[in-house]
Amino acid sequence: MLNYLRQLEAKVIHHSRRFWWYGYAVAVVLVCLALVARLSLRELLNPSPYLLFLLVVFVTSWLGNIKASLLTIVAFAVLQLYYFTPPLYSLSLAKTKAADWVGLLGFVVVSLVTSVLVWARNAARVRADTAVGEAKDSAQRTEAILRSALDSIIVMDHTGRVVEFNPAAEQMFGYTRDQVVGQEMAVLIIPERYRDKHRQGLARYLETGEGPVLGRRIEVTAMRSDGSTFDVELAITPIRIAGQPLFTGYLRDITERKQLERQKDDFIRMASHELKTPVTSVKLYAQSLQRRLRRLGDTEAAASLGKVTGQLDRLNVLINALLDLSRVETGKMSLNLEEADLNEVIGNAVSQAAIVSPGHQITVQGRLPQPIYADKVRLGQAITNLISNAVKYSPQGGPVLVEVEPAAEAVTVRVVDRGIGISKQQLGKVFDRYHRVYKQDGKIFSGLGIGLYITAEIIKLHRGKIGVESEEGRGSTFYITLPLSSEEKFEETHTRH
Ligand code: ADP
Repeated sequence: MLNYLRQLEAKVIHHSRRFWWYGYAVAVVLVCLALVARLSLRELLNPSPYLLFLLVVFVTSWLGNIKASLLTIVAFAVLQLYYFTPPLYSLSLAKTKAADWVGLLGFVVVSLVTSVLVWARNAARVRADTAVGEAKDSAQRTEAILRSALDSIIVMDHTGRVVEFNPAAEQMFGYTRDQVVGQEMAVLIIPERYRDKHRQGLARYLETGEGPVLGRRIEVTAMRSDGSTFDVELAITPIRIAGQPLFTGYLRDITERKQLERQKDDFIRMASHELKTPVTSVKLYAQSLQRRLRRLGDTEAAASLGKVTGQLDRLNVLINALLDLSRVETGKMSLNLEEADLNEVIGNAVSQAAIVSPGHQITVQGRLPQPIYADKVRLGQAITNLISNAVKYSPQGGPVLVEVEPAAEAVTVRVVDRGIGISKQQLGKVFDRYHRVYKQDGKIFSGLGIGLYITAEIIKLHRGKIGVESEEGRGSTFYITLPLSSEEKFEETHTRH
């Protein structure tokens, strides 16, 4: 019965929300029914004349329409006066007896209180129902998003346990959601050799709030349920719910992309190796031919061959850059460390750049009094690269300054130009592999976009730092900071990392 009433209530409330007149129509029908019943059962109902009316007022307000129930009260008051209060069939108030007034007034007051109480209770219920409905909707929406996501989504709590594992993750890792929820995530999907690092990272975040991998896309190795590993791109975002951090990880399988990258790297390595030998021998032949032509007095032909060897040198620089790229990619770039004179390394780089671009004024400011522990050739390559970029990206021929600033523990070398500069959007990307600006201000710049990538790697191998400050149209300052460590100290830091 109660259930039936609830359903009826829900139905009427539902209709009342759709059609404004519905509540009023129900009220009118109930009032008419009550009047007919009261008229036909006059004798029976006279001892408690307002009971039936009160019931109708209650039902009307219970159905959720306070205005309809107020109208019902007024209607009943009028009907009571007309049909049941002497003088009958008249609305003349003057002749109504005091006792009848008291009864009528009592009915109105009790009805009003009942209506307001029932209406307030209903309104609270509607509010609660709406909140529950919204929460349910929101949960359903979240569930649908998780289910339909193409990326794997794994949510981990602050203890490192899995709290959510969507269908894409089930497919990627070969576990079902039920198998992993509540388990430590590291044990399930992180290969053993990386687990401790992950746990330390989590502990550090909880302690300090610092998480260098959070909010970025990184490439990591993941593990399937059968123990096989594969490459994934991962982005982790921390959120806080009820004061506790939760970590949402979005993972994408990049095995195919990595494989293509490896193939491309292999191709670049092989192609540059294959190109190196013929280019070297062509250069040797050209040089010996050039000497012979000079001896024979054909200076014009000798000069042309000089241009050929010059172009072969450029080709060699490109091939060496590609070979270096492969070395960096395969982790095979190594340093031949020794005590070196930084001033000499810079001097050589500057003279080399001055020969290539005589139109630019390149000056050196400052010097490092003591030797530095470094790979002369590689460091020279890095500084040459920065200077030749400064020259290349100053097409108007502006000055280039190489500043040396020694400090107690390190030395900073800055290469400052007044060239085209770098836009804010590009600034963070210039050290990325293959990143390059092909065209700016209508000028086309040649290059492979790997010079700074290799330079950064050389500086990293020296345990140094590289950076850039720049303003578009005003010039750039590339700086490297190298530690002034002795051989022993260098070894120490190398083994520690
Ligand atoms: P590239 O072969 O294109 O010069 P790099 O790795 O040396 O490759 O440099 C990457 C990109 O960084 C360049 O394409 C250029 O847009 C920018 N860049 C490097 N050095 C400078 C500079 N001194 N001034 C302005 N832009 C620079």
